[in-house]
Amino acid sequence: MSLGLVEDRLVFEKSRAGRRGVTLPASDAGEAPLESLLPGGALRNAPPALPELSELEVVRHYTRLSGKNFGIDTTFYPLGSCTMKYNPRVHEYGASLPGFARVHPLQPDETVQGFLALAHSLERALAEITGLAAATLNPSAGAHGELTGVLMVRAYHHDRSEPGRDTVLIPDSAHGTNPATVTIAGMQVQSVKSGPDGRVDLGDLREKLGTLGGRVAAMMITNPSTLGLFEIRIGEIARLLHEKGALLYMDGANMNALLGIARPGDFGVDVMHLNLHKTFTQPHGGGGPGAGPVAVGEKLVPFLPVPRIVQEGGAYRRREDFPKTIGRVRSFQGNPGVFVRAYAYIRSHGGEGLRKVTEAAVLNANYILARLRDAYDLAYPGPCMHEAVFSARRQVKQNGVRALDIAKRLIDLGFHPPTIYFPLIVPESLMIEPTETEPKETLDAFVAAMLTIAGEAAEEPQKVKDAPVTMPVTRLDEVRAVKQPRLRWRPR
Ligand SMILES: *Cc1c(COP(=O)(O)O)cnc(C)c1O
Repeated sequence: MSLGLVEDRLVFEKSRAGRRGVTLPASDAGEAPLESLLPGGALRNAPPALPELSELEVVRHYTRLSGKNFGIDTTFYPLGSCTMKYNPRVHEYGASLPGFARVHPLQPDETVQGFLALAHSLERALAEITGLAAATLNPSAGAHGELTGVLMVRAYHHDRSEPGRDTVLIPDSAHGTNPATVTIAGMQVQSVKSGPDGRVDLGDLREKLGTLGGRVAAMMITNPSTLGLFEIRIGEIARLLHEKGALLYMDGANMNALLGIARPGDFGVDVMHLNLHKTFTQPHGGGGPGAGPVAVGEKLVPFLPVPRIVQEGGAYRRREDFPKTIGRVRSFQGNPGVFVRAYAYIRSHGGEGLRKVTEAAVLNANYILARLRDAYDLAYPGPCMHEAVFSARRQVKQNGVRALDIAKRLIDLGFHPPTIYFPLIVPESLMIEPTETEPKETLDAFVAAMLTIAGEAAEEPQKVKDAPVTMPVTRLDEVRAVKQPRLRWRPR
């Protein structure tokens, strides 16, 4: 067996009875029996089945394993809708400063003035970027921001004695969290069709507004949409909703296409969330902490969640005494490190720099679109915004090669797969978001890989269908992997 294969074994398979990481000299404090130190109920009957290895073996095992991971620091990560951009290292310096990393949420305000000042400035910056009146940093992620926003919309209508507004309109291209949010907020979802150009079908919107009338609380719209398209009639959509007393919620997950170019508040949006772990470079992908700040127009300011950070005299305070607030949406105020990174990002770019971020992100996506449009069908005619959405329908028709196969084959060629099978209205969808941080050489290498796969799909389809062949785990039975997941090692 080659050394590589020995090293690739599971940590349990490498275990040898009695092997230890550290062996200490015998204690001179005397040996107290465990029973005298712990109550009987807390003692195990048998030792746990832990692997037994030397420290060097453990170090090698996990160092090797970490190299098998895909990450933005090692590979191009074109996961559409997720904005997997580079996370600048200087952000980590700021986030690890003791004044941010070691604060406790119950510390008195006067002892955390630096953190409160930063959080308040970040709220102001996000309000400015979105063109809205105020923002809260409290929600923990995009989906949580959606819930916070929709609860504010509901509170707004109740406050105006219109509790019958219980329906939210959502385009059929939306991210799944949008209808889930509305349902969890105790409201009804009404889907609105997309037209042939992939944008909201205004005829269908007018019809839904006509039949539902006073029941519409809001429309939730993603702009640019999950199809990578800007809703060019957004002003008209806002006007139609406002005429009927409804509000416009914008899912701001795709703000990487608008920074410094367009402000949602200026085109009629009343409330929106941002994903600090997408647009504003908080590292994500491993389920780590994120934040989904919500920005609101004047109408919704009274309903913002608490605590709110206010500046009074020369000092910052957290206040909860707002009579119309929807209350708390989480125990405290989020993870300071997340806010420090986002703030560092905004300040280190400045307004002009953020505009360039967006220009480069949109340019990169359109480069991919232009280079791949002959090999793969476009979901909708370009140009696109921050992401290019293709369909593998031609490959399916030719030789039965699906979007999933193409995604798996990319792994063999060294790339993280793009998002597939979303948005739901695109059959065999491949959604590619390069972001602004990728150099042209990387995009060219990715394009070359996608063209290779298109060639294979036509000439040697089995090769694509069998991928990946270079990974420790090759093709899984997708259904069995869901129904009978084997997520841990068990002794034979
Ligand atoms: C990522 C995303 C969400 C959800 O955000 P989370 O931070 O993952 O909860 C919602 N809508 C769109 C369009 C997204 O891309």
